[in-house]
Amino acid sequence: MNTKEIRIPYDEFEGSENLGARVAELIIKAQNAADLAYAPYSGFYVGVAIELIDGQIFTSNNQENKAYPSGLCAERVGLFFVQANYPDIPIKRMVLVAKQNNKLTEEPVYPCGACRQVMVESAERQELPFEVWMAGKNRVLRIDTPDYLLPLKFLL
Ligand SMILES: [Zn+2]
Repeated sequence: MNTKEIRIPYDEFEGSENLGARVAELIIKAQNAADLAYAPYSGFYVGVAIELIDGQIFTSNNQENKAYPSGLCAERVGLFFVQANYPDIPIKRMVLVAKQNNKLTEEPVYPCGACRQVMVESAERQELPFEVWMAGKNRVLRIDTPDYLLPLKFLL
């Protein structure tokens, strides 16, 4: 038996320092999208902004449902929309935020397992990794590829 270790590199930014104008803009767009989420059951309003390689930006949010599994996370709403409409334009980056009680969460929000799987396959599908930014009020995390969020991913 060999004991192995998986290390996940990520960048951490305090507050909104040095994020760059584009990412700061995406964070604001994601927050605006979170305000439009349909989240009457959880009260957890997630917003996503997806920037394509050609500069187009799309936003999404979580869409809940009385029959819980019928709802969908903001990440998958956004990714599926983009891939349904622009399958040939790669995603450059994806920004995630969450709001509770109309306020941005203190800590970054992380995608659920199912969304991680979809994010990994989205990168695989476009044959190009994309950045994932997870923003909270106190700090923002950036990873270079969704693979880092799901190192032992499901493979066919
Ligand atoms: Zn999810």
